Amino acid sequence: MFDKEDLEHIGRDREILERWHEYSRHVIARLLEGCAVCGKVTEKRNLSRCRLCHDTYYCKSGCCSYRHYAATHPVDAHWR
Ligand SMILES: [Zn+2]
Ligand SMILES: [Zn+2]
Repeated sequence: MFDKEDLEHIGRDREILERWHEYSRHVIARLLEGCAVCGKVTEKRNLSRCRLCHDTYYCKSGCCSYRHYAATHPVDAHWR
């Protein structure tokens, strides 16, 4: 059986664990980004940021950049 002290101790551990989960979620959220075109979530270094949207990322490889420009910036795609 747990006495009061044990329960407080467990409560503290859980708080630390929850804080750690919160922290690692933020770290992962900072490192990962979703491709706006195909929806794939990957590390930001595998993605390019659109120079026109600024907050839009797409895959460096494949045709996502072309598809993004063709769908969102058709004029720019024409000029490229
Ligand atoms: Zn993509
Ligand atoms: Zn864009």
